[in-house]
Amino acid sequence: MNALDTLKSGGKRALADALNAIEAQAGEASVTALLDEAYDAPRGHVLGLTGPPGVGKSTLISALIRALRDEGATVGVIAVDPSSRSSRGALLGDRTRFVTDPADKGVFVRSMAARDRLGGLSEMTYPALVLMRALYDIVIVETVGVGQSETDIADIADTVVLCAQPGSGDALQFMKAGVMEIPDMVVVTKADLGQLALRAVADLKGALSLAAGRRGSAAPQVLSCSAYTGQGIAELAAALLRRAGEGVDSGHRRVQGAHWLRTHLAEAFGREGVERLRRAGLLGHESTPFGQAAELASRFRRAIESAEL
Ligand code: GDP
Repeated sequence: MNALDTLKSGGKRALADALNAIEAQAGEASVTALLDEAYDAPRGHVLGLTGPPGVGKSTLISALIRALRDEGATVGVIAVDPSSRSSRGALLGDRTRFVTDPADKGVFVRSMAARDRLGGLSEMTYPALVLMRALYDIVIVETVGVGQSETDIADIADTVVLCAQPGSGDALQFMKAGVMEIPDMVVVTKADLGQLALRAVADLKGALSLAAGRRGSAAPQVLSCSAYTGQGIAELAAALLRRAGEGVDSGHRRVQGAHWLRTHLAEAFGREGVERLRRAGLLGHESTPFGQAAELASRFRRAIESAEL
C-alpha cells in the first residue's frame, strides 16, 4: 500500500498525525513523499473563504458543512487563525469555532496559526490543503481579512468566496480601488437583517456586473444567506458543488505548486537563491513540488556548509 492509501485507511486520527508531521517534520522524506503522492491525486475542490472578522465566516462554515454533508459531499476545513501570529501552534488548537458532529467521518476540521506570513496564511497551509484535497470532496480554507489576504488565497484556492457584511461598503470599496482581487463569488452574510442585506446585494451586483471575474471568467455571482435562519445556505452549497463538478483547471494547480515551491525556497534562501536555481534549470519538475523543495533545500545547505565564508 502506498502512503496515501495507508493514510486513507487510518481515518481522522491518521490525518491529524500526518498534519502534525507536516508542521513538525517539514522536509523529511516520508512527509515529502506523502505530499507529492497527494499532489498527484487531487480529489476535491478547494474553496477559499475570506472576509473581515465578525462578518460571520465561522457560523456560515458550520452551516455550510451541514448542507454539504446533506448533499453527500465530504468536507475538510482549514481555519487559519490570525490571532496566533508568531506563536507556535494555533491558539485554538484543534478545538475550533465550528460546530461539527465528532462521529461523522466525512468532516475534518483543522486550525493553523498564521505565524508571520503576510496575507494571513501559514506556510503550511498549502501542504495541508494538498493533503486534504486528496481525501475530501470539498476543502474549505478560511482566512481573515480584506485586502492583502485575498491575493494569497487566490494563489491556493480553486474558488474564492468573499463574505461581505450588510451595511459595510468595505468590500466594494476595496474591489473598486483594486486593493482586492475580484473573487469568484461574493456572499452577503446575515440576510436576516433584511433591508440592509438586500441593499448590499444590489450594490455588489451593480458594481460587479461591470467587472470580469478572475482569470477572465464571468462576473462573480452574488448570493446572500443567513446562517441563523438557514436562508440561502442550500443554494450556496449547490452553487459550490456545481463549480466543483465543473472540474478545475489543472494548469492553475500546477501554477499553485510552482508558486509554493518558489515562495518556500525564497523564504529560506532569498530571491537570489531562487533565481540561481531557475537559471540552472532546476525548477522544472511540476509533479513533485514537495520532494523538489526538500532536495533543493538540502543542496543549498550543503553548498553553504562547504563555502568559505
Ligand atoms: P467571523 O469572525 O467572520 O468568523 O464571524 P462569526 O461567525 O464569529 O460571527 C460574528 C457575529 O455575527 C457573531 O456574533 C454571530 O452570532 C453573528 N452572526 C453570524 N451569522 C449570522 C447570521 O446569519 N445572522 C445574524 N444576524 N448574525 C450572525
